[in-house]
Amino acid sequence: MKTASCFCGQCSLEFKHDPMMHFMCHCEDCEVLFNGAFRGFAYTEIDLELKGPHDTYSYEGGSGSLLHLTFCKNCGMNLFSKPDLLEGLVYVFAGLMKEHYTFEPKVEIFAHNRLPWVTRADSVVQTYDHNGTIERVSELLENIDQRG
Ligand SMILES: [Zn+2]
Ligand SMILES: [Zn+2]
Repeated sequence: MKTASCFCGQCSLEFKHDPMMHFMCHCEDCEVLFNGAFRGFAYTEIDLELKGPHDTYSYEGGSGSLLHLTFCKNCGMNLFSKPDLLEGLVYVFAGLMKEHYTFEPKVEIFAHNRLPWVTRADSVVQTYDHNGTIERVSELLENIDQRG
């Protein structure tokens, strides 16, 4: 069991297992929303238990389908996003879990938009220029499975 909490501590997350994958997204939305590349841990949704005052904001991602961003109502910190595209998955913000895991991305998407001064991480095994290949990403997810 791994637990994490938002910046103010009112929201808490609990996971039974380890993340399936560490990944980065360099898309333009992430750059604006998160002030840089998104660093996330992919978990199965049923693995996550969320407590505390939270709200969700939904927007259309680069793929054209919705992403649902859940954040703490008190401090506003983003906790995870949930893509319609990959049913049953949540992308948990890497910073939340920093006491449990060292972030080592295996996959990066929308790499064509990577900021010029950001280098490709050594740990990355698969780079996608956009996510038109999301099916392949989900395949990869099954293969890479970083759970211990
Ligand atoms: Zn909070
Ligand atoms: Zn993105």
